[in-house]
Amino acid sequence: MIPFLDLRAAYLELKEEIDAAMGRVAASGWYVLGAEVAAFEQEFAAYCGTKHCVGVANGLEALELVLRAWDIGAGDEVIVPSSTYIATWLAVSASGARPVPVEPDVRTANLDPERVAAALTARTKAILPVHLYGQPADMDPIMELAARHGLKVLEDVAQAQGARYKGRRTGALAHAGAFSFFPTKNIGALGDAGAVTTDDDRLADRLRTLRNYGSKVKYVNIEAGVNSRLDELQAAILRAKLPVLDAWNDRRRALAAYYRDRLAGVDVIELPYVPQWADPAWHLFTVRAPDRRRVTEALDAAKVGWLIHYPIPPHLQQAYASLGMGRGDQPLAEQIAETILSLPISPHMPTAHVDTVVNALRGLT
Ligand SMILES: *Cc1c(COP(=O)(O)O)cnc(C)c1O
Repeated sequence: MIPFLDLRAAYLELKEEIDAAMGRVAASGWYVLGAEVAAFEQEFAAYCGTKHCVGVANGLEALELVLRAWDIGAGDEVIVPSSTYIATWLAVSASGARPVPVEPDVRTANLDPERVAAALTARTKAILPVHLYGQPADMDPIMELAARHGLKVLEDVAQAQGARYKGRRTGALAHAGAFSFFPTKNIGALGDAGAVTTDDDRLADRLRTLRNYGSKVKYVNIEAGVNSRLDELQAAILRAKLPVLDAWNDRRRALAAYYRDRLAGVDVIELPYVPQWADPAWHLFTVRAPDRRRVTEALDAAKVGWLIHYPIPPHLQQAYASLGMGRGDQPLAEQIAETILSLPISPHMPTAHVDTVVNALRGLT
């Protein structure tokens, strides 16, 4: 049995450091917004190359609080990819604004800058590109477009911690970057956690207020904020993991290269397209399989775990029925949903397991 992802292996590699971190917090007597969160914020900002990092409770709220901090809400529009995890859209809806889907570059599944230009209206306030599957989106043309139209750009970096675009880290490419540290992400907590990175002093300050009931001084509330704090325990665990993130991403990169090499010429699947300027974090190794059923049956027979990211695009979810969109409205996102397939990849996956996956697929041609 080859699991899609083995989170226990990541814990066991760092057991000593993680156990020590948890013990340190437990013994400190201080559990929310303390020294661990402050230290993680500094270390993660340094890692990404931004001036600030603000820890929050999860990735969805990282996205949502940035939109709120920019005063985006009812009557506004935010450009989102038609092909993404639904959380990207939910953050926009939660702010009160309307998510306006834009179709991807079908090769990368990421936002297509030319289509973004065509979707702008007088109500557009922000663009929310996602570095889907750990592949950086084409940010330069998006930032140029935003500058020309006075728009904000928020990166959804939930799947791309440590990826680079033209040599620069994701999370440092726009006005702000929103991270999730959900356990399955490239750097994950042992529970929910998130953060925002930015160079903008005012945004960072507003986020620190918003995440803590709208309060900077205890029991003095300057706005109606929320409780979306990163807790000390998760921050300490993330601090134990951050020093190995690059090594873990290197291991993902090596496995991706190995997959690409061994799967070349296997015609039941199409390998991921990587633009020359992209250094992906390989959060997922996604292939396209026009006859996906046949491929997943072969993987099942070989006892290989697989997943589909994602089977239903947001515009076809019942949650967005009110937008009145149906099948055929976002054809590229629909085509991706019907053919995409994620093969197992993770820093702790033995090469022998990749061989089993490869052999199951080679048997089909
Ligand atoms: C995981 C994820 C999120 C949400 O993060 P949570 O921490 O689970 O709230 C947002 N966007 C994308 C693309 C994600 O993969």
